[in-house]
Amino acid sequence: MGNRQKTETLCVQGGWQPKKGEPRVLPIYQSTTFKYDTSEQMARLFDLEDSGYFYTRLQNPTNDAVAAKIAALEGGVGAMLTSSGQAANFYAIFNICQAGDHFVCASAIYGGTFNLFGVTMKKLGIDVTFVDADASEEEISKAFRPNTKALFGETISNPSCAVLDIEKFARIAHSHGVPLIVDNTFATPINCRPFEWGADIVTHSTTKYMDGHATAVGGVIVDSGNFDWEAHADKFPGLTTPDESYHGLTYTKAFGKMAYMTKATAQLMRDLGSIQSPQNAFLLNLGLETLHLRMPQHCKNAQAVAEYLEADERVAWVNYCGLKSSKYYELAQKYMPNGSCGVIAFGLKGTREDAIKFMDNLKMICIVTHVADARTCVLHPASHTHRQLTEEQLIEAGVAPDLIRLSVGIEHADDIIADIEQALG
Ligand SMILES: *Cc1c(COP(=O)(O)O)cnc(C)c1O
Repeated sequence: MGNRQKTETLCVQGGWQPKKGEPRVLPIYQSTTFKYDTSEQMARLFDLEDSGYFYTRLQNPTNDAVAAKIAALEGGVGAMLTSSGQAANFYAIFNICQAGDHFVCASAIYGGTFNLFGVTMKKLGIDVTFVDADASEEEISKAFRPNTKALFGETISNPSCAVLDIEKFARIAHSHGVPLIVDNTFATPINCRPFEWGADIVTHSTTKYMDGHATAVGGVIVDSGNFDWEAHADKFPGLTTPDESYHGLTYTKAFGKMAYMTKATAQLMRDLGSIQSPQNAFLLNLGLETLHLRMPQHCKNAQAVAEYLEADERVAWVNYCGLKSSKYYELAQKYMPNGSCGVIAFGLKGTREDAIKFMDNLKMICIVTHVADARTCVLHPASHTHRQLTEEQLIEAGVAPDLIRLSVGIEHADDIIADIEQALG
């Protein structure tokens, strides 16, 4: 860590270091393919014997520069951009799980991830057990089986705003010989770096704060390089035994700490192809250049709005981990002492219809499916993002039917509060 540049510097300067005469700004390598002089040179790339670019589905210089910036921000050894956050979480699990395997996951997570893990991955023969992340280590450990391959949770859950006890989760995962995968979308590496607390792999929907301007859907997987796959070789044959699709190469032997990332790129991206476009990676990079400036403003505004809501008698409850009344206040102070994120969950007194009316009354604040944008926005998950979940699943995912998700932007807090005030009527 000693030589690590400061986070602010990495946001601005990380990833792209031009050589003499090259563009100062990261170029968009809008090319599917790359030129070589001999057939032999190309063949060596296909065998993973040389590294280099040959086809954008596998690697692209624009994407790689942005991935390198995010890897540096998280303190990881490598990263891979994906076309969306959904693809990132799918690949993160699928890279180490196959039909017949199982993983354990915090139940309070993003609705799309809940569906991906609980419905779609089950169809592939990969089973999941959702657990209450606030339960004791003993209780959560009961969900593990001999075929369990990973533990998964979100630093701050979308939309319920629960804070994950990362150290506790890392202890549980490691005591069962599996990696902890943390979706760090809401906290961002500005406010929390899960690797420093024992997480092994981090994912993001870069669509959210990292892009920050609602311009580009994307995702990323980052590996800490810390998990010892060889020590649990029987659990992870995909990494520790020969890959027939690469002439019997074994990822852990050939790539060491880069085994997990290399397999994700060379095998999953090759076969499934959810690559981020270089154009989107360029936009993501622009967002990252100001992430360290935007996050504190999101947090400052959200704190002011949360305090306003908590003091208003028309509001039934507020969940924001920056509030002393939050059951996650202590965990947030520990893992995110400089602030958490701009997302607040709250409920109004009255009926579900009152919540809808409040949202329809908002003027500056828009109803959008998005979250973590520079512009303040609002959503009613039970009617929108989480519509597909049953009442029971809603409760399990920590989404009360009256929950309003307010994503506080980087305008002036006074104007955000004024809009809420007039909409409460
Ligand atoms: C939005 C979101 C995702 C899914 O990301 P997309 O980019 O929309 O595919 C995953 N995890 C969290 C925490 C999210 O907020």
